[in-house]
This record gives sequence, C-alpha cells and structure tokens, in this order.
Amino acid sequence: MISPSWREEVLTLSRTVHLHVDRERRILEALGDTVSLLGEPPEALVGCPLDALPPARTHLATTLLEQLTARAPGPRQTRALETESCGVYLLTDGSVALRLTAEPHDDGGVIQRLADRLPVMVAYVDPAGCFRLNNQAYLDFIGLSREALYGRPVSSVLDEASFAKVAPRFRRALAGEEVNYEDRLTLADGRTAFFKVHYVPDFLEDEVVGFYAIIQDISEYASMIQLLRDVHTGINRTDIGTREIIEQLLQDALAYLSLEIGLVSRIEEERYTVWWAASRGPEIAPGTTFALGDTYCRLMLDAADVFHTVRAGEDPRVSGHPCYQAFGLESYIGIPLRVNGRVWGTLNFSSAAPRGRAFSEIEEELLRLIANAAERVITHEVEFERVRRERDRMADRAMTDHLTGLPNRSALERHIERLMQARDAGASPFSLAVLDVDHFKAINDTHGHDVGDRVLRWLGARMAECLRDGDLVARSGGEEFVIVMPGASEDAAREIVERVRTHVRQGRVPLDDGQTLGVTVSGGIGEHQPGEPYPGLFRRADAALYAAKRAGRDRTHLAACPA
Ligand code: GH3
Ligand code: MG
Ligand code: MG
Repeated sequence: MISPSWREEVLTLSRTVHLHVDRERRILEALGDTVSLLGEPPEALVGCPLDALPPARTHLATTLLEQLTARAPGPRQTRALETESCGVYLLTDGSVALRLTAEPHDDGGVIQRLADRLPVMVAYVDPAGCFRLNNQAYLDFIGLSREALYGRPVSSVLDEASFAKVAPRFRRALAGEEVNYEDRLTLADGRTAFFKVHYVPDFLEDEVVGFYAIIQDISEYASMIQLLRDVHTGINRTDIGTREIIEQLLQDALAYLSLEIGLVSRIEEERYTVWWAASRGPEIAPGTTFALGDTYCRLMLDAADVFHTVRAGEDPRVSGHPCYQAFGLESYIGIPLRVNGRVWGTLNFSSAAPRGRAFSEIEEELLRLIANAAERVITHEVEFERVRRERDRMADRAMTDHLTGLPNRSALERHIERLMQARDAGASPFSLAVLDVDHFKAINDTHGHDVGDRVLRWLGARMAECLRDGDLVARSGGEEFVIVMPGASEDAAREIVERVRTHVRQGRVPLDDGQTLGVTVSGGIGEHQPGEPYPGLFRRADAALYAAKRAGRDRTHLAACPA
C-alpha cells in the first residue's frame, strides 16, 4: 500500500522544504520538514511574511528571488534560479515557489542553540567575510539583532584600522589555518576593548567553507596586567618623576575600575587638597581644595580602610552625604595613604555614572596594592623634600653669622666675587669699608663678655638700618664689620659710611640694669680698582682703618691708591 503522505516523507528524507508564496511574499502553503529547517510546523507558517523566517535559512533564496524579479520581463524571461541548497520558481500567476534544502552537514540550528549558551562570543564567517552566525553573547556585545547582523561584512562592526589588522588573519583562517591572537580592537561605534581571539576553519571535505571565531573580551585582565606593571614601576623605577608615576597609576586604575575620576589627595587638618589627578571626563586641577567633611574620603578615613559604594543614591550610608548632594557622585572607592605611619592623604576613584557592577575582592586587593605603590613613591618624595630643606638650611647657616644674623665672612667673599665678575662684564666700580669697634676690649673688660656680645648684635642691626638696598653689611670676624657698596665711588662710599658712623654714635645700647652704653667705630674705605684682587683691596682698606685708629678713632680714612 502506498502511503498518502509519500510526498511529505520524501521531502523530509531529502531535507527539503517547499514554500508557495504570493506576490506580497506571504506564505500560502508549506510542505516538508519545516520544523527542522524553519522551527515551525507547516500550518503555522501559512500567512507568515517571508522575511519573518530565520534569515540564516532564507537569505540565499530571497537574494535569488530579488535577482530574478529585477530582470526585465521578455519573451525568453528566465523564471527559475537554482542552487544545491535552494531554488526559486516564478509562477505564471505572479506567485513564487521556493525550495529550501538543508545541506548534508547542516545541523538544523543545533550549533546556534549551543552557541547561544556559551559565555564567550561566537561568530561564523563565510569566505566573503560576512557573518553567517552570531551567538547571543556576540549580539549582546555588539548591540545589534541577529537579523541585522546576518550577512553583514565583519568590516562593518570594526573601525577601519582595526579591520585592517584582522583581515590578514581572516585570510589565514580561510586558507585552513587555526589562528590565535590577543589584540586591542576598536569597534565601529568607537568602543575599544582587548580581545582574545581564536579562529577555527570549517572544512567541507577538503574545502574551507568558512571559519568559527571564538572571541573573549579580556579588557579587564589586560588592564589589570597594565596596572600591575605600573605598580612595579612605581616601586622599582627611580628614573621617572613622582607625578608621572602617580598619574599613570591613576589613569590605568581608572580604565581597570571603569570609573571617571582618579585622585590622590593631601589631607591636612580637615582640609582636602587635590595633589594629583586623572580624569576621563572634565579636568580637575591639582590644588583644588574641599572641606574634608564634604568628601566621601571623610567616611573612608573614619572606617580607616577601603570604602566603596556603587550607587550612592541608594546606599543609606552615603545618600544623605554632602558629597552626594553637591556632586552626585554615584560610585566611589577610596583608601587612606599613610606616610611614616600617619595618614598623609587618600587615593580615591569615583564617577557620576553608577558603575555596572559591585567592587570585587580582587579590585579591593588591587586598590591596596596601588595605594602601597603610591605610598612608597610619596614617602620617597617627602623624604627627598626633607633632605633638600635640611640642606638649604645648612647652606644658609654656613653663610650666616650666628651672633648677629648678618652674612658672615664666607657670604661676604661670595658676594664680592660676584661683584668682581660683574665688573669684568662692564659694571661700575664698587667700594668697600672695613669698620672696627673702638676700645671694644674695654667694654668686655668693664661689663663682661655678654654685654660685649649684646653690643655686637646691636651694632649689626643699627648699621643695617641706614644702608641702601643693594648695600651689604657683614660681620667679617671679632668686632669687625665690612660694608660693601655696589656702584659707589670712594667719595660716595665715604658719605655712606659717615652716615652709618654718625647713626652708631648717636645711638645707645640698652643694658639689663637700665643703663645704656655708647659706642663708636672707626673705618677705612677703598674703591675697587680694575683687575684688583679682593685681598689687595681688603689690605688697603684695613691700612686706612689702622690710620684712622692712630689718628684718634671715631673717624674714617680713605685708602691709598694701590702701589
Ligand atoms: P681698638 O679701638 O684699637 O680696636 O681697640 P679694641 O679693644 O677694640 O681692640 P682689640 O683688638 O684690642 O680688642 C678686640 C676685642 O674684641 C678682643 C676680643 O676678646 C673681643 N672680641 C672678639 N670677638 C668677640 C665676640 O664675639 N664677643 C665679644 N664679647 N668680644 C669679642
Ligand atoms: Mg679689631
Ligand atoms: Mg676694636
């Protein structure tokens, strides 16, 4: 007995489906194993528009149909186009018959369903470089529907430069080679990610008919590795500046944490000052200050440990905080920075947009690691700064007379050296006066050494009071002072020194017992001669001083010209 449904059976065995479609491309009738091929029984397909069927199945047939109907009608019009997997037949009433035959290796959608369950992205690319399959993970990542992506060239989802990088790898896969690579690629929509990619060629007999692309977004791992490199750099490199190291750390941590703002702050009292900053949005200038209480860092410092929130607005710990009210920062993670065991500042990252996921333990650990690296760099910088200040202080001290606070002999000599260089370069002459306290030994002998010291301090201040800017008085030793007067001739210098001497004589040194003491000085003045070395000039002035002493003290003498 012959089965009445023999046609159905044959069509099923031959893995073929026939569709009768009207002029509007609506299905009038369906025959064969439509469940395997199209996912629906024949009766469910009746009335369905053709373009509602899975495009993976009907793509070729609809392409052929378009070609056929685009041709000009004529007496010898072709009315059928056929390939192994499909046929298109234009019937005389304008309706169309379609034949869809599953290929022998066709899986009937199993691969699609399996692939959809994978957490990695999977695509099948044909020899023309077009998508023939995209799994759910792929669609989610790209943000397009299965239908929109089907048949589209891969070049349409990547930016030009990135496609240029992957095209040669496509060719290798299509030549039958398995290809593995890791690369940073930019999508057509501008997003950049780090991918780990595996191409597996698909063979039919000996021929490559396409390849599977298995793709993982490993941006997070890649940025973690970059961050670990930075931490290593921060700890080990001494040839890179602090600012550079910290800014790089902040920048890479932002990429890893998917946040917008990274800051290292300095905390002094209740003041928060931005010390270093990195931002993927609006710029934040170092030096900007806030009241510590207005920042999430206050909460973090109270907790004395890592503190984070992903949606501040919904987090009762922070939703009422001034920082949320003022800046609307939704996501935050911060940690204290300690230098020499005390809180120096904070390391914190934040963004106005809420982060997609909670902070993981690994991220917390990484933050601690970054903080450690930053603390090392900052400690180094703080220590360096301390040593530099100490050195400056010592240098200062080496140039200052500790009794009077005036420049000492070393400072005097350095000053004179500079003036001589200026003279060589064409500056006008300078003059120098050596001044010595009259009968100072008697002051010491009568009132004691302490009073002697007090007189010297008083004299230093008194003489400095009546000098012009640019003139210098130094204590060159014992009870002897030197005044240097740039741009002054011998006569001008004498006027200046007379003024000083008069000012000294008219003053009184107050003593502890309420008494006061008068004091006078004698001086010798010399004008620097071109090419004259300092010791020669000093000797001439000193000889003039000696002459003034011999002439009765409390006076000035001009030096003789050099021999
Ligand atoms: P003249 O008018 O000839 O310069 O007589 P004089 O007594 O000032 O000169 P002399 O050189 O005989 O004595 C200087 C004294 O100054 C001797 C020394 O003990 C004293 N003297 C030097 N340095 C200091 C000092 O730093 N403090 C005190 N109190 N005395 C000092
Ligand atoms: Mg003396
Ligand atoms: Mg003296």
